Amino acid sequence: MFKIKATERMKEIMGNYFRSLESGEKKIAWCTSVGPAELLRSFGFEVYFPENHGALLGATRTAMDYIPEAVKCGYSGHVCSYTTADIGAFLKNSSPLQTHYGLKGAPRPDLIVYNTNQCREVEDWFQFYADHFQCPIAGIHPPRHLDEVSSDEVALVIRQFQKMIPLCERASGQKFDPDRFRETVRLSKEATLLWQKALKTSAADTPPLSFFDGTIHMGPIVVLRGSQLAKDYYALLLAELEDKVCDGEGFVPKVRSRIFWDGMPVWGKLRMLSELFAANGAAVVASTYCSSWVFDQFDENDPWASTARAYTEIFINRSENAKMRMLNDWFREYKIDGIIYHDSKTCFNNSNSRFGMPQRLRERSGIPALVVEGDLCDLRFFSEGQSITKIETFLEQLETNKTYV
Ligand code: SF4
Repeated sequence: MFKIKATERMKEIMGNYFRSLESGEKKIAWCTSVGPAELLRSFGFEVYFPENHGALLGATRTAMDYIPEAVKCGYSGHVCSYTTADIGAFLKNSSPLQTHYGLKGAPRPDLIVYNTNQCREVEDWFQFYADHFQCPIAGIHPPRHLDEVSSDEVALVIRQFQKMIPLCERASGQKFDPDRFRETVRLSKEATLLWQKALKTSAADTPPLSFFDGTIHMGPIVVLRGSQLAKDYYALLLAELEDKVCDGEGFVPKVRSRIFWDGMPVWGKLRMLSELFAANGAAVVASTYCSSWVFDQFDENDPWASTARAYTEIFINRSENAKMRMLNDWFREYKIDGIIYHDSKTCFNNSNSRFGMPQRLRERSGIPALVVEGDLCDLRFFSEGQSITKIETFLEQLETNKTYV
């Protein structure tokens, strides 16, 4: 049976990370998942990511227990279900962090930082906690939806990053250290490049890393980037995946079609979807989601500009044209036969199927597309039966078309 051995090490690293949040050894900064984590880490903060908690609530299928609590407080059940599940869990003082890792709950923040490069929802979400904990909060508001990111935009984001320094100094009790910042960016870059290589192993004819496994193995690049631990982990994972490619060992033994997944994972249905695709000989080899933590612009010799640029150029923060260019490149690189767009009910920011892009991209690339409705955490918006029928029909059509080409 196909297995990635590094998974055990990953679970150990993630467990240690969660427990470290409550050790009291370091000050805690909360940060959005594509926020300036390197800058925070350079001040000695341990960094906690509420979105990672949201994903945990989705994957453990506990989100639906918590969302109604947030709705009672005025948060719509139609806004980001990471937000509503996370706030609801907090209000109920209940979390898988307690049952899985023995924590009391989310760690108390000394500083809260968000970046609206992904969506404005994070601002409301994080403000809730800043109010609750009476905690200092800083927001980065980069220009959004750009075709190209110019040096003017980068300069604006640099200024916003640098404005955070006094706040970080007060909250951490440490002076800004440029060398430490450079070193953190270097470690982050090295980890992110290893993660990128790990993802690219699935360009092979026998792909070793599926999108579904990728959503699990990306844990350390989200929560521990800028640390030696993350870098070491991705070196270990990459070595194993490269061995698998050499041995011709892929997660689908005989690949009949190669699929790209766009949008958020359906966290509570990862296994079901993974098995569905595999049973149909379809390898989901690449995704916008897992690629979102590849920051190949990072450069320790130019830490401000390179981090400002990398965090502003992410896929979710780009124009439709830029997104189509990136998708086209991925289609070629991973030899994609079809793309699935997850239209996530509560995250329109990371759903790219609502304004005709699938049709336009299909015309441009010739790659067939399917839209699947669902949600990242709230499974009331996901119909399993309907999704299975749609996906199986799509995969059959892909094979038929291939046969007659
Ligand atoms: S990008 Fe989507 S899932 Fe992520 S925080 Fe924003 S609204 Fe929520």
